[in-house]
Amino acid sequence: MVDLKDRVIQGYIKSLVGEDGLKMIEGMPEGEVTDEQIAEKTGILLNTVRRALFILYQNKLTVCRRERDSNSGWLTYLWHLDFSGIEQQLSREKRRLTRNLNTRLDFEENNLFYVCPQGCVRLLFDEATETEFLCPMCGEDLTHYDNSNFVNVLKKRIESLNTT
Ligand SMILES: [Zn+2]
Repeated sequence: MVDLKDRVIQGYIKSLVGEDGLKMIEGMPEGEVTDEQIAEKTGILLNTVRRALFILYQNKLTVCRRERDSNSGWLTYLWHLDFSGIEQQLSREKRRLTRNLNTRLDFEENNLFYVCPQGCVRLLFDEATETEFLCPMCGEDLTHYDNSNFVNVLKKRIESLNTT
């Protein structure tokens, strides 16, 4: 069974199904259950349960089995969690995030930024030369923006992604 206390796993699940979805997973009864049973057991709205189950299903984290009642002919959908592929999904997700962060880092490191002291805009050097280093919104003198703090945050984030 997957460790739902793990922060990386929690974060990933939350990014898929939100806080309520995570709560649903934590409170889900063992074995095959219907959406109504899950809603009843966890106290989460049926619509929220259905939405979360569907998203998890698309991401191959739930399995669904249909059963037809021989008397009424009605179909019942039975669900259970299957987190066997989550480690693989997580490493794919980490690679995707790392790639995006590296793209952003390149952009931040290879550009000069200018900002309006009133907080209206942040412009690239080329854009700032076009407005003669004046804010296009309010006319204030633009000042050079030191993004080194943000660059450090990005670097730390990339580092932590690759050590967990
Ligand atoms: Zn301005």
